[in-house]
Amino acid sequence: MALIGHFIDGKVVTPAARTAPVFDPSTGQQSGEVLLASTATVGEVVASAASAFPGWADTPPLTRARIMFKFKALLDRDMDKIAEAITREHGKTFEDAKGEVTRGIEVVEFACGIPHLMRGDFTEQVARGVDVFSARHPVGVVAGITPFNFPAMVPMWMFPVALACGNAFVLKPSEKDPSASLLLAELLIEAGLPKGVFNVVQGDKEAVDALLTHPDIAAVSFVGSTAIGEYVYKTACAHGKRAQALCGAKNHLVVMPDADLDKTVDALMGAGYGSAGERCMAVSVAVAVGGVGDALLEKLVPKVQALKVGPGLDPESEMGPLVTKAHFDKVKSYIDDGVAAGAKLVVDGRGLRLQGYEGGYFLGGTLFDDVTPDMRIYKEEIFGPVLSVVRVPDYEDALKLVNDHEYGNGAAIFTRDGDAARAFDRDAKAGMIGINVPIPVPVAFHSFGGWKRSIFGDRNVYGMEGVGFYTKMKTTTARWPTGIRSGAQFVMPTTG
Ligand code: NAD
Repeated sequence: MALIGHFIDGKVVTPAARTAPVFDPSTGQQSGEVLLASTATVGEVVASAASAFPGWADTPPLTRARIMFKFKALLDRDMDKIAEAITREHGKTFEDAKGEVTRGIEVVEFACGIPHLMRGDFTEQVARGVDVFSARHPVGVVAGITPFNFPAMVPMWMFPVALACGNAFVLKPSEKDPSASLLLAELLIEAGLPKGVFNVVQGDKEAVDALLTHPDIAAVSFVGSTAIGEYVYKTACAHGKRAQALCGAKNHLVVMPDADLDKTVDALMGAGYGSAGERCMAVSVAVAVGGVGDALLEKLVPKVQALKVGPGLDPESEMGPLVTKAHFDKVKSYIDDGVAAGAKLVVDGRGLRLQGYEGGYFLGGTLFDDVTPDMRIYKEEIFGPVLSVVRVPDYEDALKLVNDHEYGNGAAIFTRDGDAARAFDRDAKAGMIGINVPIPVPVAFHSFGGWKRSIFGDRNVYGMEGVGFYTKMKTTTARWPTGIRSGAQFVMPTTG
């Protein structure tokens, strides 16, 4: 049984600790045992990062960028190994896992430009003989607390930018699929990152609380569910830290009557059922506008029925299992709840049995029609392969649904009408909009973040938002001795 440890001071360590089992979701068999750090272990990890920080902060940005270039090359080299580790613990298909690593690599590529991205401002002669310049400084030791659904990509939304900016980083990955984090840590060392600059501490609430309250943690980035994210954000802020928490979602895809239905159905299939719906940018609500519902369902139902569900390492599989038995039970209970609430269950994914994988957490693609906004399956994030169709008479009603929902991560519209698309882009209350694009996860040189209760804090992750979050500005006003006027001045200095 693999013992999955922490990564402290450049190596994997496995001190005696509480542990939690890690499972292969395609078989239901336990594959490993992950350590759950105590407060004392978190203290050791933070101490290692704090002692590595000054040297790293002093390292020229170009040198830091060169390490990122090497890290990127190593990620390319080990792509399959990392993707396989993800599939074995998360369950998503191998190709999808490679896609996840690729999206993480894109942030590393962005971070390779850090000498330019951190470049400061200089204004000469703001007064006679006086110049002003601004520079970005790293904030210190920063922590990243990440969810199970992207065990490589979400950490890489954070640490490449944080490290390139000169910070030391402590990653607390999900205890459900912790192995990818150690592979990333080892590659950073191979790329030349000094020991202690990047550390991994495995754990649960005890480890998170220890990070949130530790005086040497300067900033906390969190990605996960809304309830935990709100707690993390408030606790980190109450302890004087910079914080950002990216949280849950219920993403709507509005289908206008003029949409290309074949393309719309393909988009709904990928965005609704890809990664078994365990994506914060998954589409979980299709809003059928103005009578398009029947034609949409006619094309959608056979595709959902034909979805190939199987183990993630089988190249034939389009969708793998859910991550844990507990999550499987939760998603299944939402389907039961939808039926009890009167939604029309058009395709039922419960009861799927795969020969040879009877212990796996497989649920078939599930489709509800006639879902209404008062139902739990509409209001709450299910995070499984369950798509709800809500029928509305017109665009205004579709927009109202999007805007009245408590979450506002992403929203999409499928239409050929430029006016409708532009109006939706301006009016929808969500942080990421897709126009004939179902999962509008922004590229690395833009940034990712939702609105409403899909985010706490005022900064998105990665892109220039990431550079802003992981740096603090210092602005210097300078005069050389020959420019100093004689005598003290007691009035507010002005130019001239
Ligand atoms: P989660 O909130 O259960 O866990 C996230 C992290 O918090 C993990 O590291 C976990 O160990 C830790 N944690 C769990 N319980 C805790 C507690 N009581 N106290 C302190 N820390 C705790 O989320 P998850 O189930 O791993 O991930 C799925 C969620 O993440 C979904 O809601 C999804 O929408 C969200 N998500 C959001 C984004 C985004 O960018 N908005 C991206 C990916 C996932």
